[in-house]
Amino acid sequence: MPAETIRMARRKRIALIAHDNRKTDLLDWARYNRGTLGRHELFATGTTGSLLASELALEITRFESGPLGGDQQVGAGIVEGRVDFVIFFWDPLEPQPHDVDVKALLRIAVVYNTPIACNRATADFVLSSPLMEQEYARQLVDFGSRLRRPSLPDA
Ligand code: PGA
Repeated sequence: MPAETIRMARRKRIALIAHDNRKTDLLDWARYNRGTLGRHELFATGTTGSLLASELALEITRFESGPLGGDQQVGAGIVEGRVDFVIFFWDPLEPQPHDVDVKALLRIAVVYNTPIACNRATADFVLSSPLMEQEYARQLVDFGSRLRRPSLPDA
């Protein structure tokens, strides 16, 4: 049976998130790539989105701030097929109040085979990929067989 796929259009739906100590780096990266980013549909967690919108004059749909559920909203966007990929500059040196949400987002991105760039070099490679300007059929991994429980013997 062919694998189920999710169609990503040429205009990608990109979610951007940066923890506080990583915001300067994300802003700098986004400034450098403003032209490319402007051709796609952008989402961001609250504070990251405000900074990107005001400093780069980009149109961005803002979710809640990360600690207030923004990361979970990005995760839900992945599950519901509303987010195609994620640029997530998380802080590897500081614990976050919403660490569980961060982990959940990283996990759900892998479950749905969603591209997720967690540092600047990866974001550079992703954004400069020719696939950014093409449609792309993202294959979903069939986890179903692993999730179906074997039937238990009658008691
Ligand atoms: P923020 O959230 O953009 O509202 O700062 C990011 C995060 O901490 O996940």
